[in-house]
Amino acid sequence: MKATREVQEKLLALQQLDSDLIQIKHKASTLPVARQFDEASSELSVKQDLLVAARTERDDIKHELSRAEVDVEQVASRIEKDEKRLASGLGSPKELEQLQHELGSLAKRRAEVEDVELEIMVRVEGVDLRIKELEEVCRALEIRLDELKLMKEEEIASLEQSMNSTSHARSDLASKIDAELLALYEKIRTSGDGVGAAKLVGNQCTGCHLTMNAAELTRLKSVADDEVVRCEECRRILIRF
Ligand SMILES: [Zn+2]
Repeated sequence: MKATREVQEKLLALQQLDSDLIQIKHKASTLPVARQFDEASSELSVKQDLLVAARTERDDIKHELSRAEVDVEQVASRIEKDEKRLASGLGSPKELEQLQHELGSLAKRRAEVEDVELEIMVRVEGVDLRIKELEEVCRALEIRLDELKLMKEEEIASLEQSMNSTSHARSDLASKIDAELLALYEKIRTSGDGVGAAKLVGNQCTGCHLTMNAAELTRLKSVADDEVVRCEECRRILIRF
């Protein structure tokens, strides 16, 4: 196959653009900011679940507290009633003695239910604190996510722009290369890890990075400039200029 030196150089430039496109695509699919966004997003989801659980826990404890408050009130009103009866002095000495005894038990009972109420109040405080902390963490994560989303969108937009301009340059350049040579290049590129044409640097093919022997190098040098040559090792189109 024949192609002028100029066209062969264009093919090498086309290869560069194709390699650039692969790189841009790779960059777009491995953006660190996208990974950070995903990480922050799952962290937020975990914290939101914890927040929901903590709020449910608080509701449960609040119910417990209401029950404990009722217990305290009931004991208090019993005590008040008994004390009034005792103060009135009405009733037989035996009944009054029984009242005294009951008041003693009620005082003990009141201490118990008040302890329970206090213990529940401490738990409410604990869970309230946890909710406050989780709310702050979630808020901070939401702000971070907004920032990351913006950064991600900006980086993707910039990569899309590079992708578009490179693609345009590529089709522009491809239109200047003979169809037959272009088809060969595409065929090799598809099966050759995205590299269809490689430059010969010294005695090395930059496509497969293998060095050629002196005889092969001499042969390549003797071939006319407009002859399309290929690497003996990787079969890629070898550009000698
Ligand atoms: Zn090669």
